[in-house]
Amino acid sequence: MQTLIEPFRIKMVEPIRQTSAAQRAKILEAAFYNPFLIHADDILIDFLTDSGTGAMSDRQWAAMMVGDESYAGSKSFYKFEAAVKKITGFEHIIPTHQGRAAERILFSIMVKPGQIVPNNTHFDTTRANVEYNRAEARDLVIPEGKVPAAIHPFKGNMDLDKLKALLEEHHATIPLGMMTVTNNSGGGQPVSMDNIRQAGALFRSYKIPFFLDACRFAENAYFIKLREKDYADKSVTVIAREMFSHADGCTMSAKKDGMVNIGGFLALNDGQLAVQARNLLILTEGFPSYGGLAGRDLEALAVGLEEVLHEDYLKYRLRTAEYMGERLLAAGIEIIRPTGGHAVYIDAKQFYPHIPPDQFPGQVLVCELYKLGGIRGVEIGSVMFGKKDPATGQSLAADMELVRLAFPRRMYTQSHFDFAIETIKAAFAKRETTRGLRITWEPPFLRHFTAQFAPLDS
Ligand SMILES: *Cc1c(COP(=O)(O)O)cnc(C)c1O
Repeated sequence: MQTLIEPFRIKMVEPIRQTSAAQRAKILEAAFYNPFLIHADDILIDFLTDSGTGAMSDRQWAAMMVGDESYAGSKSFYKFEAAVKKITGFEHIIPTHQGRAAERILFSIMVKPGQIVPNNTHFDTTRANVEYNRAEARDLVIPEGKVPAAIHPFKGNMDLDKLKALLEEHHATIPLGMMTVTNNSGGGQPVSMDNIRQAGALFRSYKIPFFLDACRFAENAYFIKLREKDYADKSVTVIAREMFSHADGCTMSAKKDGMVNIGGFLALNDGQLAVQARNLLILTEGFPSYGGLAGRDLEALAVGLEEVLHEDYLKYRLRTAEYMGERLLAAGIEIIRPTGGHAVYIDAKQFYPHIPPDQFPGQVLVCELYKLGGIRGVEIGSVMFGKKDPATGQSLAADMELVRLAFPRRMYTQSHFDFAIETIKAAFAKRETTRGLRITWEPPFLRHFTAQFAPLDS
């Protein structure tokens, strides 16, 4: 059969609210043309993020009912610990409330001011946690990883020559190395096993610990199965285990490939580091057998980590992004290619060539998708990364003007995606008469969350 179906059936439903075009125009105006400020109830299809937004399975909900809420030594902790050990092979498993808590703990104990942490590309919270410890977060992704139209099977790979050069010169000031799988900030692009192995060997040759930022480890493992020589016949469980075997530990946001709405962990082999991490955990997150989570959360996570490695799920997951990408490209709409695991990124610069960066083409497209179809995406361009020139007060453009549509796990069906594709095409059809936006108010930091806009022609 040619038709790939969602590998699940639905036994509980949550209605989503249809609104009229007139209502959406009013809602958007009231939200100052910033979809972060729209109530989720007014959204029809929410592609804001894939983090913590997915649907849990019947087995996960059932597991939650047997959650053991004992303060210390809960049964649920041991189930969670066994599930993580089985997949990662790491010795010490420390639960945290989400990924950034694991990052904060790891970097607080390992990173000193003035040091350098290399990564293919640091995710924003990872970078922020490195910089908070007054160290430098150095991104070393291959050059293709920064070119939206460049085709490469593993666009998330680390540039090993650059890594080698950095290690030769600065190994004494590198406390640990990181690798983000998949490379979220670069479009959810995978890293090859060969690249993980070689990067791991380089760090090991200098006795520098190497950690995976493992948020989307299962999606990455399936890309390896599809694209890398010698892995086609291996199970994703075996592939994932090999990925972890090249590292000394990992940080994980379970809100991604943990298939839960909240949770994370730090896993590592070094017993002394684990003792320090647990001490810090007790200070801010909780006792080491719950780490800021409820027993029921640990139960759901233990099941989610097993379910995310089901190959029919991963096939459907990766095909979803690819399917949307194919249809957009066929309509002449440029995207980051090839599509990654969890999202499609539309190139808004090419979508609206007549709208300059200081009129925010990505934000314009995000607003159009809401107006036309009640769909919410997020701008990743000059609103998020653009800066004001301190001398002139002029806006400085970001490198790229993108709109990210990120896909919650197991939540939407193919017809939801078809509807989204139709909406994007409708925005494309009226692109020439679409005008830019101006900022009417902005906060001093992280302006994309709360900035206010107005249409230019008003
Ligand atoms: C989401 C994410 C994080 C941070 O995890 P939170 O659970 O949001 O704190 C870190 N790294 C990557 C690659 C992520 O995608």
